[in-house]
Amino acid sequence: MDMDERGRSYEKRDMIADDIQYNVVKQYAVIQSLFLSRIMGENKGVENMLKADIVIIGSEGAGARAAVEVARHGMKPLLLTKGKIGRSGATVTAMADFEVDSKSAVEVLGLKGDIRDSKEKFFEDTLISGGYLSNQKMLERHVNDIPEIAKEMMDKGMKVAQELDHAAGQTYPRSVMTTGPEFMRILIKMCKEENVAVYEHFMATDLVKKDGRVIGVVGLDLSTGEFVEIGAKAIIMATGGGMQMYPYSTAPDELTGDGHAMAFRAGVSFIDLEMIQFMGCTMMTPPAVEGQGFGYGLCADINPLDCWLLNKFGTRFMADKDPIHKEHVTRDKLAVGMMTEVFEGRGSEHGGIYVSVSHLPKQIVDNYPQSKNVPYLSKDWEMFGFSYKQIMEEAKAGKALEMGVASHFFCGGIKVDENGYSGIPGFYAAGEVTGGTEGGNRISGNALTQILVQGKAAGAAAADFAKTAGFEEFPKDMAEYTERVNGPLSREGLSSFEIRKALQKVCWEKLCVVRTEESLKYVLEQVAEFKKQLPLVGCKAKNKIYNREWVDALQLESLITLTELVATSALQRKESRCVHYRHDFPDTNYKEFTMNNILENKSGRIATHFEPVVVTSIVPPKEA
Ligand SMILES: Cc1cc2nc3c(=O)[nH]c(=O)nc-3n(C[C@H](O)[C@H](O)[C@H](O)COP(=O)(O)OP(=O)(O)OC[C@H]3O[C@@H](n4cnc5c(N)ncnc54)[C@H](O)[C@@H]3O)c2cc1C
Repeated sequence: MDMDERGRSYEKRDMIADDIQYNVVKQYAVIQSLFLSRIMGENKGVENMLKADIVIIGSEGAGARAAVEVARHGMKPLLLTKGKIGRSGATVTAMADFEVDSKSAVEVLGLKGDIRDSKEKFFEDTLISGGYLSNQKMLERHVNDIPEIAKEMMDKGMKVAQELDHAAGQTYPRSVMTTGPEFMRILIKMCKEENVAVYEHFMATDLVKKDGRVIGVVGLDLSTGEFVEIGAKAIIMATGGGMQMYPYSTAPDELTGDGHAMAFRAGVSFIDLEMIQFMGCTMMTPPAVEGQGFGYGLCADINPLDCWLLNKFGTRFMADKDPIHKEHVTRDKLAVGMMTEVFEGRGSEHGGIYVSVSHLPKQIVDNYPQSKNVPYLSKDWEMFGFSYKQIMEEAKAGKALEMGVASHFFCGGIKVDENGYSGIPGFYAAGEVTGGTEGGNRISGNALTQILVQGKAAGAAAADFAKTAGFEEFPKDMAEYTERVNGPLSREGLSSFEIRKALQKVCWEKLCVVRTEESLKYVLEQVAEFKKQLPLVGCKAKNKIYNREWVDALQLESLITLTELVATSALQRKESRCVHYRHDFPDTNYKEFTMNNILENKSGRIATHFEPVVVTSIVPPKEA
């Protein structure tokens, strides 16, 4: 692959397509033959059912790395994905950096960094950035395990930039730069080496439990429209975040919180789910580029051009909120700063704030796309297939851009320990679907580190569990599971599309960055209405094969469940911390709320409580 000297050139997806395709076709044939034996009328029972030692739901960074580890522990993994491996989920879209402490980057990876750094400092920076909510056992594993995991990927050919980048929140440069496709290329290569089976275009809809243990998964084969049951000794959930709760998102369409919803129904607990990271990067206007993440390259996060963010009265509000760092703050502070202006009526016409470059000499703006900071921006101001040339001409002439936020990353999620274990026998989770590593905010690059470390840990733990566990027969009566899948197709009814739009509007207006008790209660009232509508949702299109309307209807249920979980969680945290801003409780309450916010499923209802954070070395402060 051609990379620029810092390793951040455009991805070369098509160059890896053949490789992936080969693997998939090969694996798919295996799956289909197993599957056919089921539907051709053989008796139902453990012997005949489609099964794998460990089924991993989600095939990307966390899932693929988990699968490799499962195989290395002598167990057979099966990766499931709604899309295609290497082409679905957030991992392949990452820009992409992962974090390693600078000292290890020099000594283990042979990169240029700063040897004054240490794993302890990396640990501390992450803990502080996350508002002291991280599980410190998980964080220890995060900083300790990543150098060797990254080294193996580099030894297998992953191309990275030689020099580390320095992101906001890092005391020393720690961002190892690569690309999402390159990252996935190596993980797929590792999966192939370990003969990992992949079942693509499979939407998991429920975990199956017996005697308190998870024994398999069911779902819809999108390519046939068939309901499929898969037995497993253990399951690893790696379905990523649920960013599609919001109309503006940096993340791909398929991230609709299915994993969260399945886990909740199976009785799994959640931690700090109110902590959703937003990026201040979205164009609010003109309509041709509305919702596009141009700000990613221009001003969000690192703001290399030094754009000014202004409210509608021209105040450079970030300079007021943080006179030292101004616009150069971590993502949580930037999003809260921007959206507080909007909430308090000082936002731009279309619900964002103004981004200005008019304080800069025109030549500096013109030269910006050639800088090394933005490899995905062409010299002519094209980014992600959109042209911003005209917009930037107007910006140089003094017209500000209107920029808002987009949902970007779930810091909270399924509650697991440092081995990815959820507390429910046979059920593990890894990657963005989990909480506990990042606490209340994520520093740039820490997600890719998280998914590798957690994927490996969960793979090993699930494989160890599977060594002494057997396959179990599924219940005779599967009606509850088949009805969830087949219900929408069998009905003529309400449009899931309209309800999803309404839900996203509610989330955007009332459950975005700035929240209040009133707004959160409103969300929950609306969720109750959406839940009433759900059994009436149907499909106009009745085809069984790749029926998008059907998939949307199934995803809608996940989004409604997730919204209820997030709003309930946000209502409990009566303080502002990191990415969670309560306008009615604007301060961080270190005394009472340096605690993890836990959600549990008590007979289908959400029960909440706070519990102390897991501490190993740094005791959180009792005051600011
Ligand atoms: C635009 C963008 C840029 C980013 N850049 C960076 C970066 O530079 N550095 C960094 O550290 N982080 C970055 N992140 C965050 C990071 O990419 C993600 O947190 C991480 O990749 C998540 O990996 P994952 O394996 O947990 O989930 P994902 O990569 O999101 O994969 C989820 C998988 O689950 C599957 N799935 C979902 N539901 C189902 C279902 N019902 N049945 C079957 N399969 C299902 C999907 O198809 C997919 O295969 C970025 C995120 C985005 C959106």
